[in-house]
Amino acid sequence: MASGVYLFQGNYLVVPESAGGLPDAGVDKGLAGAAFGQLDYREVPSFAGEPGIRGALLGADVVIPPGWRTFSVRQAVAESSGAGRDGVCAGVPASPVLRLYHVLQWREESRFCGSCGSPNGDSPEELARVCPRCGRVEYPRISPAVIVLVTNDRGEALLAHNRKFSKNVYSLVAGFNEAGENLEATAVREIREEVGIEIKDLRFVTSQSWPFPNSLMVGFTARYAGGKLECDGIEITGADWFSAESVRDGVPELPAPGSVSRFIIDAWLAEVRPGEKTDTIGR
Ligand SMILES: [Zn+2]
Repeated sequence: MASGVYLFQGNYLVVPESAGGLPDAGVDKGLAGAAFGQLDYREVPSFAGEPGIRGALLGADVVIPPGWRTFSVRQAVAESSGAGRDGVCAGVPASPVLRLYHVLQWREESRFCGSCGSPNGDSPEELARVCPRCGRVEYPRISPAVIVLVTNDRGEALLAHNRKFSKNVYSLVAGFNEAGENLEATAVREIREEVGIEIKDLRFVTSQSWPFPNSLMVGFTARYAGGKLECDGIEITGADWFSAESVRDGVPELPAPGSVSRFIIDAWLAEVRPGEKTDTIGR
């Protein structure tokens, strides 16, 4: 794939201003070296037998020199979505840059062994950190989370405003899997906790690696089964049922393209023709 390298600082890609946006082939390594000196590059193998993709993290204290700029990793996801590149099957396209970003973040956070505190090394055989003293092996951290589009009998979808979202953005209810819980139970619990309702007919739609940080978003649809809509007021500060017409008219504002939430909402909109009710997508 890419012959160049990718540089990250926090949640940003660092790119030459001349690149315009996210350079598809990465940044020339010589150019990166001239600007930032010697960096700790890590190559991440791809899944499909293609050449790997290489990159490095810049420390938070590194000053971005003239001629370079930062570019939000999430924005890069949004801009690369829709093109369907590297999509393994229908669903949200996989992103090699996101995979690299995930691995680099994890590598930075696993510098020391969690058992004995010795500095970890990279395994030569697999994507893992290995402690040279006690042999503890650590793999990239991945935290599963569910995200659910719930519809009611009127064919409306439940969209909620999380206090972390931009002002008018409403999206799907989501939450992290707890230890000892299967994903179905996570979905039921999160929806009950955050908006007070019960669901039925939970169905898997698609999933997406979402390293902000280290999540695996598992997308479902479900149907309303009972209860009164009531926000928890902690995470969710607004929630309501919205018709497809309303959402098409821009009410409420949706999350940016590229996220699994937007993918599932768009799939639902595509299923609901004007003036028609529907159950759920994915069946
Ligand atoms: Zn150890």
